[in-house]
Amino acid sequence: MHIPIQSVTPQSGHAEICGWVHEERDLGGLAFFLIRDRTGIIQVTIPKKKVSEEVLLAAKKVSRESVVRIAGTVKAVEKAPGGREIVPDKFEIINLAETPLPLDVSEKVGVELDTRLDARFLDVRRPRVAAVFQIRSAALFAVNEFLHKEGFISITTPKIVAAATEGGTELFPIAYFDKEAFLNQSPQLYKQMMMAGGFEKVYEIGPIFRAEEHNTTKHLNEATSIDIEVSFADHHDVMKTLEHLIVTTYEYVNKTCSTQIANLEIDNFAVPKAPFTRLPYGEAIGIAQKKSGEPIKYGDDISAAAEHAIGDEMGAHYFIVDWPTEIRPYYAMPYEDDPSICKAFDLMHPRMELSSGAQRVHQYDLLVQQIKKKGLNPESFEFYLRPFRYGMPPHAGWGLGAERLIMTMLGLSNVREAVLFPRDMHRLVP
Ligand code: ATP
Ligand code: MG
Ligand code: MG
Ligand code: MG
Repeated sequence: MHIPIQSVTPQSGHAEICGWVHEERDLGGLAFFLIRDRTGIIQVTIPKKKVSEEVLLAAKKVSRESVVRIAGTVKAVEKAPGGREIVPDKFEIINLAETPLPLDVSEKVGVELDTRLDARFLDVRRPRVAAVFQIRSAALFAVNEFLHKEGFISITTPKIVAAATEGGTELFPIAYFDKEAFLNQSPQLYKQMMMAGGFEKVYEIGPIFRAEEHNTTKHLNEATSIDIEVSFADHHDVMKTLEHLIVTTYEYVNKTCSTQIANLEIDNFAVPKAPFTRLPYGEAIGIAQKKSGEPIKYGDDISAAAEHAIGDEMGAHYFIVDWPTEIRPYYAMPYEDDPSICKAFDLMHPRMELSSGAQRVHQYDLLVQQIKKKGLNPESFEFYLRPFRYGMPPHAGWGLGAERLIMTMLGLSNVREAVLFPRDMHRLVP
C-alpha cells in the first residue's frame, strides 16, 4: 500500500508512494526525481549501477507530470526535501504524460493567467495554486461552522427565477420552456421570504450570476455568495455577526493552513481585529474627494478609485454606513428621523468591497412605495410582496462574496485566481 508523501520519514525503512513526476535530473551515474502528491514532495535517487533494469528503463522513459508508483528504501539525506530520499526497487509508470506540457508545473517559468486557466487541471498541481483552494475549502468550512454554532439554518434557494432582484441590466436571460427566465443575481428575495417563514436565522452559500459588462479584476459573471438573513435584528446586529465571521474565518485559516500559507509565501498572515471602524458614507465621500484624484460627490456610488483612496486612509477592514437611500436597493430600511439615509452598510477591505447589507423594510406599504420610487413595477414582485402581508418580522442581513474574501485574505491580484473555473466575458470553457 502506498502512503502519503508527507508521512515518509528517514525512519520509514521501506516505503511505497504514488504521485506525479515534478522534476527530473540526470547526472550521468545518478538520476534524481522529485515526486509530488497533494501532501508534499520527495526526492527519488537512482544510482544507475545499483538498481534493476526495470527501474532504469522506467526512469529513462518517464516524462514530467507522468503518474508513477515508486517503492524503495528510505534514507536520511540532509539536503533533500524533508531530509529523506527513496532509492527505488520498483518504478512503475502508471500513466505517461505527453510532452511538451501546456504549462510548467515546477514553476520555473512564469505563466500568464489565461494559459493557467486554459490548463487549470495542470495549474492546480502547483503547490502554491493548490494552496489557494485548500484555504478556500478551510475558510468555507469555518464559515459553515460559525453560522451553525450561531444557530443559522442552511437553505438553498432557486437559481432559475422569473424576476430580477433589483431590476437592472446585470441579468442573464435563459431559455425556460415558453417562459421568460433568468439566472438569479442574489438570493435576497428568497432569504427574506424565509423570514416570513419563521426560520429567523438562515444562510446560503451558493452561486450568483451577474452579466457584468466590464472586465475588472474583482468581478466574475458567476460568483459565490455567502448570504445571511436574521429576524428581529437590525443593521448593527448583522454587522457584528459579519465582523465576527471574518475574524473567526481568518483565525481558523491561520490555525489550520500554515503549510498552505507558507506555500503562498505570505510572511505575516494578519488576522483582522474587531470591531471594524464604522465610517459614515458622508465622511467616506469626503476622504475620496480629498484623496482619490477623481471627481465624486455625495450621492454617487463608491468608484474603484474612491474605494482605493478610502481604503488607503483606513488601512484595515471597515464598514461604510448610513448610505443615501436613493443609491441603495428598495429593500433597505430608511432611518425614521431622516429617510434620506438608510440602515445599509458595505463591509470594505482596504482593496475593495466585500459585502453589502442592511436592515430591511418589513412594512408592506413602505416596501411597495420604495419599489415604485425606484421605477420598478410592484406587480413583478407579487410573489415577494405577498409574505409581507401575513406577518413579516423586522429583519436584516448581508451578502459576502466568497471569492473576494479569499482574494483579499491571500493578497491575490485577480479574483479569477480564487475560482477553479472562472466565468467572465471571454471565458466559458473549460
Ligand atoms: P461592486 O460594487 O463591487 O460591483 P456590488 O455592490 O454590485 O459589488 P452586491 O450586489 O452588494 O455587489 O453583492 C454582495 C457581494 O457579492 C459584493 O460585496 C461582492 O463581494 C460580491 N459580488 C457581487 N458581484 C460580484 C461579482 N460580479 N463578482 C464577484 N463577487 C461579486
Ligand atoms: Mg456590482
Ligand atoms: Mg457596490
Ligand atoms: Mg454592494
